[in-house]
Amino acid sequence: FVKDLVHSYRLRDGAKGARSANMRWGKSSKRIFAVLRKYGGPRTLRFIRENLETPSDWTIKQEWARDKMHFKPGAHADIFAHLGRLYALLKEKHGIDGPVMYELSEDETTVPGASQYNQRLDSIVGFCGKAGENHQCKQNCSILIQDSETAYEKIADAWATQQLAGHLRIMVVNPLHPKLPSLTVVAHATCNCFDAVWIRNDWDNTKALAEAHISPHLGQLIGRGSDGDARRFKNQLEDMQPHPKAPGRLGLLDAPGFTLSARISEEGDNLKIDCIHSQDWRHNLAKLMSHIAKRVITFGRYVATHSHLLQVRNVMPYSDHGLSADAVDRTDSMDKGGPADCCAPRVQDCLEKMQKGQVEGKPAEPTMLATRAYLRMVSSYVILNAGIKATLTDRVKHAAFVIELLRLSRSYVADSNDLSLKDNFMPRQTYSHVIFSCFSCVLKIMAQRRLNPNLPVCLYKSGSNCCEENFSELGGFGRIAGFKRNYTAGDAIEGIGDVNTLNLYAADPAAPLSFGSRNHRQDVDVSRHESSLDADANMADHKSDEEYVAAWNTGRGEARALAEELGMKPARNATWWDTPWKDEDKHVTQMYAADGDELGGEVNSQGINADFDKEAATRERDAIQPDQEHPAVRANLASSDTDAEQPPAADTEADGADGEAEVDGTTAAEAGGGGGGGGGGG
Ligand SMILES: [Zn+2]
Repeated sequence: FVKDLVHSYRLRDGAKGARSANMRWGKSSKRIFAVLRKYGGPRTLRFIRENLETPSDWTIKQEWARDKMHFKPGAHADIFAHLGRLYALLKEKHGIDGPVMYELSEDETTVPGASQYNQRLDSIVGFCGKAGENHQCKQNCSILIQDSETAYEKIADAWATQQLAGHLRIMVVNPLHPKLPSLTVVAHATCNCFDAVWIRNDWDNTKALAEAHISPHLGQLIGRGSDGDARRFKNQLEDMQPHPKAPGRLGLLDAPGFTLSARISEEGDNLKIDCIHSQDWRHNLAKLMSHIAKRVITFGRYVATHSHLLQVRNVMPYSDHGLSADAVDRTDSMDKGGPADCCAPRVQDCLEKMQKGQVEGKPAEPTMLATRAYLRMVSSYVILNAGIKATLTDRVKHAAFVIELLRLSRSYVADSNDLSLKDNFMPRQTYSHVIFSCFSCVLKIMAQRRLNPNLPVCLYKSGSNCCEENFSELGGFGRIAGFKRNYTAGDAIEGIGDVNTLNLYAADPAAPLSFGSRNHRQDVDVSRHESSLDADANMADHKSDEEYVAAWNTGRGEARALAEELGMKPARNATWWDTPWKDEDKHVTQMYAADGDELGGEVNSQGINADFDKEAATRERDAIQPDQEHPAVRANLASSDTDAEQPPAADTEADGADGEAEVDGTTAAEAGGGGGGGGGGG
């Protein structure tokens, strides 16, 4: 790179003279400039150009355009294949041998309603299929323009007949390995009108594509990650509900209450394990902690309540609990760090002191036992998913502890004459999702040993957080400058290609670039839950199923002892006490059904029920209006071709037009234009 800079300088005709057309820039040099241009926009490039040396803007854009992974709405084999090759490079770079387990994770985010012309596709994107009463979203919807003579009619017709989308859905390849990035493979606009069958069909389709193009390079697709959307959960549960003892199933056979399973098959040497889906643990953590503030959660004799946390903060010194006002008051509903801090062992210790009357001038508060037990359960859940010190057997123990304690407390409420599952317990979604995700963790631990015991088990990446990271990377808080946080579906379809290209640059052995640590925002501080004196666990130290069963029984035993302390154990013999997994399905239907807000506002309202609610869907659909104020949409309405991509005849740039170029360059055209070429048409 430095050699190229010096060489270019020497080729100049005098220090201030014209740059030479004979300069040949190396590939990695061109890529460095291409990345700088993406990070900082054309202005950054001009600045370097004025003070140092750069290739022409055109050369740089060509380099980017050559490498860029081009997206179109929907699932396409060429994009799957592109990512497959990229993962092969990444595995080689990091020295990762053998199959890596991966999930396909998916989520939606709300975007401004906008239809946009995409120059590269010569199409209008931002619609999701023909509008109408029975509309269900069409993923690959794009209105081809082709002929400029009829363009106006086509656009007018699209507006009259097509459904405008208000959401962006993405599907992300999520390798369960700490070193491999999670990259988007499908993106499309949607109005959120789809049901569980639509999801199932999409999963069949994308599974075939992933197994043909990604699995041969990366490893095994073990399941789907999501965030509580009922349509997805319905399919996930269907896949995992067969009993572990059924033929072709995998589970801890001799572990009492091990009710979910994965699918396992062997063809020759080819071992295949799948149907290990996941529900995002960060969301579940936030839900578990928000429910004690908003609902009555009976935990044995007493109620687990947020007001006890407020008392801890008011009575005990900060050095004892370490809780900020923001963490306790839940000022940010998207925050996952606060909820995790609130259930840390030091907070449990504070509660124990207050419960037992060990704080001077304060009477004992026996009811705090319920909150303390609840927080211990949530802390176990955090360690299971995100711990650094917990071994694999520890994690199986934590999973069993959470599952058994939830089941016993549910059965206790159901068995009581004075309590109802609807009014005195947590919402059915949270209960089901937490238990489901605990099973998922144990099954992943079991699957890793069978599929590739040399690799560590990686649980913290599971779920849909990778989708959120990709959404925010597009939103301008990550690596790409130029996109507003409220990007449109059309912007995203271009921008996702940029994000993936940066990952290609990081991995390509032909011209490797180093991006430093991406400094993942560690929103959950797991060090509050584990002892700093313990060594980090070796997540590749696999144990036999017998040892996992023993760990399972230990966790169950701890939960049962705690439940007894909480006063759950019935005076006379009761089957529910010995087999609290019985009647679970029936009880779940009796529980309270939470709405979108109570689920953290992270699930779209149409995703609350697995059954397609046509009325709700229509309401939601009709509410999507074009966003006239969005810069990318405005740029489309009054677009110009000033930033058109022409190789400059001489090496000159329109320096005089700085102000104008910035408006076009860094806001509208960069964000909305097809293939970086500026938005046209419209
Ligand atoms: Zn739609």
